[in-house]
Amino acid sequence: MTRNWQSHTVEAKSVKAWRLNSGDLLRITDIEGGQTGDLFAVAADDLGDGQSNGRSFDYGGTIRLTTGSTIYSRRSRPLLKIIDDKVGVHDFLYAPCSQEMFEIQYGADGPVPNCFENLSTALAEFGVPASTITIAFNYFMNVDVSTAGKLDIRTPVAVEPGKSMTFAAERDLFVAVTSCPAATCNDGKFQPVVVDIGTE
Ligand SMILES: [Zn+2]
Repeated sequence: MTRNWQSHTVEAKSVKAWRLNSGDLLRITDIEGGQTGDLFAVAADDLGDGQSNGRSFDYGGTIRLTTGSTIYSRRSRPLLKIIDDKVGVHDFLYAPCSQEMFEIQYGADGPVPNCFENLSTALAEFGVPASTITIAFNYFMNVDVSTAGKLDIRTPVAVEPGKSMTFAAERDLFVAVTSCPAATCNDGKFQPVVVDIGTE
């Protein structure tokens, strides 16, 4: 069967969300290089059954997800499988950046765009409550974990333009993808990413 691809630009500091049917593909491309963002998926048949980093670590046995890895839901159901990964370095530990985080860590004194609000707003269009949104998959985010457990956010490894990764939907789901506005993760730049959705 021929796959039909549709291309969407997620502008800097913003978000887009889609409904995927089981078998659909989602490809994220870092068109300019050095950008990171958040991906959060929720099962279409249970809007409380969002993705879980802990369950994904349980069944994958690693905190370093890449080609062949599966993102599981809170109820231990497969949501997305990574079928191709041209970058290979992502984070699945950090919570989405939020208004509170910008206030506590960066002294923000007014509203700032943030991934938590972007994910919740985009997924609310599909009826997903904000309480479902926990730890996003932080695609292309480079975090070193020392043997002592210390976390160190580094420049993304994909600094050259055009690197991508592709997920396959393992069931019907809703998924949101942001372009992250936290300067620390992106080496100080804010750029759009392209999301291609491949349906059958
Ligand atoms: Zn963010």
